[in-house]
Amino acid sequence: MAETFQFDIAIVGGGLAGSLAALALRDKGFSCAVIDAQDPAVMQKAIFDGRTTAISYASARVFKRLGLWDRIAPEAEAIRDILVTDGRAKSRFDDGAVSTFALHFDSRELDEETPLGWIVENLLLRETLFDAMDKTDGITAFAPAKRAQTIYDAARATIALEDGREISAPLVVAADGRFSALRSEANIKVNQWRYKQTGIVATVAHERPHEGVAQEFFLPSGPFAILPMTENRSSLVWTERADAADAYLALDDANFTQEIQNRFGDYLGAVSLVGPRWSYPLAFHLSQSFIAPRLALIGDAARAIHPIAGQGYNLGVKDIAALVDVLAEGRDVGLDIGHLSVLQNYQRWRRFDSVSLALGTDVLNRLFSNDIAPLRLARDIGMSAVGKIAPLRQFFMRQAGADLGALPSLMAREN
Ligand SMILES: Cc1cc2nc3c(=O)[nH]c(=O)nc-3n(C[C@H](O)[C@H](O)[C@H](O)COP(=O)(O)OP(=O)(O)OC[C@H]3O[C@@H](n4cnc5c(N)ncnc54)[C@H](O)[C@@H]3O)c2cc1C
Repeated sequence: MAETFQFDIAIVGGGLAGSLAALALRDKGFSCAVIDAQDPAVMQKAIFDGRTTAISYASARVFKRLGLWDRIAPEAEAIRDILVTDGRAKSRFDDGAVSTFALHFDSRELDEETPLGWIVENLLLRETLFDAMDKTDGITAFAPAKRAQTIYDAARATIALEDGREISAPLVVAADGRFSALRSEANIKVNQWRYKQTGIVATVAHERPHEGVAQEFFLPSGPFAILPMTENRSSLVWTERADAADAYLALDDANFTQEIQNRFGDYLGAVSLVGPRWSYPLAFHLSQSFIAPRLALIGDAARAIHPIAGQGYNLGVKDIAALVDVLAEGRDVGLDIGHLSVLQNYQRWRRFDSVSLALGTDVLNRLFSNDIAPLRLARDIGMSAVGKIAPLRQFFMRQAGADLGALPSLMAREN
């Protein structure tokens, strides 16, 4: 006889979205199972994920309210300014063809104290989330554990694991990433395409301080982002044509560093590579529905977008905060939290926001990842308009801070 464990919510996927969801839902009193196919010890090794995440100031409020920010803050670097340049920074490698169109977003224009966001290493996010889950009664991790099948009936969903255990709950949360198997089993269609671009990720140390400035150079092959980290380091997300990326990744350290330096220019002095390089094939995935009976999609399972604006995880954080409000409200008036009548409130809250931001980042990437003269002219006119019109600049900063629209209670502004 299979052993069956009962929970309020079963979360499939214990990545950055699934683990934060467990903590946020538990905070509202829901007991949670978190099932992940991978071993948490492996997921906390430095080699597992070399990325950093730009945590918006609205997402940071969620971490603060769940008591997670104190551990993150000492190693998070504040983003005070964002400098966007159509072309690369001027440097000794320039041949005079570099665009001078630049856009400056200054956090002080919105608020003297609050930065536009923080750059946090994914490793630290995972350590913080996993530690907190371990210490929280009412959250049970099943990992590594493979899901064999999920059966939905009138009152509950039952997840059978390959090791014979069963998990039963009125609601399953799919946090199983961009290729979500739960989503396809529920027959939810996805709009998806590949970008023919690869995100090359590495950390560099540099001679001069970055002073909290995040730089994004729009190069013909894609955006090249230099994100400020602690200790005179920066994380770079170098979007490159997929066919060229493999050749760059195969370079030895000296030549790879030289390629980086060519793109950085001189403004941070000499740069040196810290640790290995990673690469991520870039693609767009947008689920046509975020819900099905007894199923809610969050994080990359709901939509995975181009990293051009550093918003993918921030959208997932907002999914989680909205889902928490919707489910708590449903439960408090005695409703079945897995019923579509409750889940539709989540879908209404999150899908429109996701569609507009996902498509917006897609258009931005297409508009900027080329060297076509009329498009270059159009984007440079757009950039100088935004640069001159303060309310437009402030709108973009609020968008980057994920601080627009109806905010769930975990994200709401302090009064
Ligand atoms: C280069 C790059 C830079 C980025 N930078 C930023 C940034 O600055 N800011 C930002 O907000 N976002 C950024 N993002 C996006 C962000 O990284 C993702 O949105 C986020 O990591 C998604 O987390 P997730 O938990 O939804 O999915 P995933 O990280 O994909 O996690 C899914 C989990 O589900 C598990 N799983 C899958 N299938 C099963 C199964 N059948 N059974 C059990 N478990 C399963 C997996 O093991 C995994 O642990 C970036 C992305 C890239 C590629």
